[in-house]
Amino acid sequence: MNNGEVARVFQDIADLLELKGESVFKIRAYQKAVRSIENLPVELSQLAAEGRLREVPGIGEAIEKKITELLTTGRLQYYDDLRAEFPEGVISLLQVPGVGPKTAMRLSTELGVRSAEDLEKAIVEGRVAGLFRMGDKTAENILRGVQSMRTKEQRIPIGEALPLAQEIMAALQERVPVRNLTPAGSLRRFRETIGDIDLLGTAADSEEVLAAFTALPLVREVLARGATKASIVTRGNLQVDLRVVPDEEYGSLLQYFTGSKQHNISLRERALRQGLSLSEYGITVVETGQLERYATEEAFYSRLGLQYIPPELREGTNEIALAAEHSVPEPIGPADVRGDLHVHSSWSDGRDSIEQMARAARAMGYQYVAITDHSKGLGIAHGLNEERVQEQRAEIRRVNEGLQGFRVLAGIEVDIRADGSLDLPDEVLAQMDVVVAAVHSAMGQEREKMTRRVIRATENPHVDIIAHPTGRLLGVREAMALDMETVFQAAARTGTVLEINAMPDRLDLRDVHIFRARELGVKLSLGTDAHAAEHLGLMQFGVGTARRGWAGAGHILNTLPAEALLAALKH
Ligand SMILES: [Zn+2]
Ligand SMILES: [Zn+2]
Repeated sequence: MNNGEVARVFQDIADLLELKGESVFKIRAYQKAVRSIENLPVELSQLAAEGRLREVPGIGEAIEKKITELLTTGRLQYYDDLRAEFPEGVISLLQVPGVGPKTAMRLSTELGVRSAEDLEKAIVEGRVAGLFRMGDKTAENILRGVQSMRTKEQRIPIGEALPLAQEIMAALQERVPVRNLTPAGSLRRFRETIGDIDLLGTAADSEEVLAAFTALPLVREVLARGATKASIVTRGNLQVDLRVVPDEEYGSLLQYFTGSKQHNISLRERALRQGLSLSEYGITVVETGQLERYATEEAFYSRLGLQYIPPELREGTNEIALAAEHSVPEPIGPADVRGDLHVHSSWSDGRDSIEQMARAARAMGYQYVAITDHSKGLGIAHGLNEERVQEQRAEIRRVNEGLQGFRVLAGIEVDIRADGSLDLPDEVLAQMDVVVAAVHSAMGQEREKMTRRVIRATENPHVDIIAHPTGRLLGVREAMALDMETVFQAAARTGTVLEINAMPDRLDLRDVHIFRARELGVKLSLGTDAHAAEHLGLMQFGVGTARRGWAGAGHILNTLPAEALLAALKH
């Protein structure tokens, strides 16, 4: 059983316990384990073999036992017994927003509803309205829940969601006086995939802003428009919600709608212990019933005795405990990045010349850019052989002479062959400013072989950086079979940098890997893998991903000035 399958079992257990009306604490314990396991950079089977399961947050003695049973027998008696207590399909009804445990049981036992599809049919046929005396209204709410669940299943990659949100915000700002426009929800937390796009802003006249929003050229359909909120579907079939609120409520609302759910649950528990209750409108003093509204999130967190927590860190791990001690780390920001360490030019498969890429990088405020074209092994990418590497170095010298206060670093993205050897001889690599190495072929190798291959590359004294270390392409190709823990240890031991590739369909290393690599002392770098000048702007995706991995500027090499960077590289 892999981690995903184990997490699925525990998620079902949490849902079934909820149906059973068990204590919130018991349910929460399983949910916590689910989240931990989903985000684990190591396979549970490996940890189990090493006797280290208990090191995972959220895994105590009872859950450790259950994991061991699942891993050794492929089954779990406790789960089977629990499932036998309930009708088939009732778990899937609980996933529908608006359907609680009682409703799910009634739908299942009285109407024989087994799935969300059954449910939709039963609603359309009027059977659900008949079941609940409240009538059509309840049925309508549930129907909306079924539909929203369906759109939630189609999660949008952040590479699409963020540019769309930015386009909408820019268009609105051009048309109406609206302030503080920002994404909320999972987009603001910079998750890899986004459900609906939620936007939030403030204005003196909210209706004017909402009217402009629903009239934007990219709107295909207006789903709803009220006094403070409107929902649209874009021509690309994505749902976007905009809330426009008064300045004095902005902080509380932004906090509430940014989530995550788990973060907000933990926050609510903390507030209750302080005699406070939280809602989207603000903080209520329970004793007096007085509602306090907050214009900023900083003031909101401060009222709870907490340091401000950056949105990318609000995933319900231990960020609230750290905020209580005022020791939340400061994540890297876009302005910290001083150069791009992974860029292609027309010398291999890029579109633009070295000079064009350099000028575009300088225009972004960078101090340097590393030109890292492919090596000869990548025939389709017109990779460079020894001779052309020399010619390219001459061209880089020429470009550098014409650029004041900016430096083009002579780099290469050398191919890691199937056996872990490199595609260019050491003498050639020794002359480069930066050597980036990457796997581009034989990506289906089995785990042990692939791990040895990458480790061999880290052990080459000339390899500074391993690019897109896991090789995944979001929604297209799974990560290569790699023992990441061992790769991290090798990178730390050899002083090899691991890249956070900022291409939105890569985001590789991903958040949980960054988190773990950092813990093991691995140095990291950011690179866009730009193949054209406009790709340099993709750096924002790398920075967001680094933030989700709790990486600060100090963890990322290309926040250093050029000289310090070169001194910090291995070769
Ligand atoms: Zn590559
Ligand atoms: Zn590349």
